[in-house]
Amino acid sequence: MSTPQALEPATFYYAEAVCHTVGCPNQDIIMKVPALYSNDGSTYAVFCGLCSSKAEVVTATKLDPQPVVE
Ligand SMILES: [Zn+2]
Repeated sequence: MSTPQALEPATFYYAEAVCHTVGCPNQDIIMKVPALYSNDGSTYAVFCGLCSSKAEVVTATKLDPQPVVE
C-alpha cells in the first residue's frame, strides 16, 4: 500500500483508485470516484464497493469548479 498523495484540504477531487484485494472482482481494476473529498488533505480514503477494503488512490484531479456543498 502506497502512501496517499497529499491533497489540498477541504477540496473535492476526481479520483481513480484500485482495489488490491486478492480474489475481489475489482482487483486491479480502476474505479472512478467522481467526487472524493480530501478532508484535511491526507486522511481521505476510497473503499472498494465490492469487498469494502481500502483502495489505493492512483490519480486525484482537483475538480474545477468545485461542487457546491449544501
Ligand atoms: Zn475490492
